[in-house]
Amino acid sequence: MCVGCGQMRPKMEMIRVVRTPTGQVVVDTTRSRKVSGRGAYVDPNPECLAAARKGNKLARALEVPVPEEVFQQVEALIRERAPASAEAAGTAEGS
Ligand SMILES: [Zn+2]
Repeated sequence: MCVGCGQMRPKMEMIRVVRTPTGQVVVDTTRSRKVSGRGAYVDPNPECLAAARKGNKLARALEVPVPEEVFQQVEALIRERAPASAEAAGTAEGS
């Protein structure tokens, strides 16, 4: 389930953020989901990321504060995965 919009989706399509057993928060960039720990999922969608961030939903799902760089990593992943033709350019930035 996406922590941003709350919708169910195939996990393979989503970005997994993991709280490792040592308490670190990392983005699982492996397709095989190798990173162990408590996971939370976000759709590869800037709006879902914004919602997960604003409402502190990601931090709540993981039960630890989420560092800024984690959000940046997720954002970078979203950009990577977005089709080149998407209208994503510029809309989700700022404000
Ligand atoms: Zn979502």
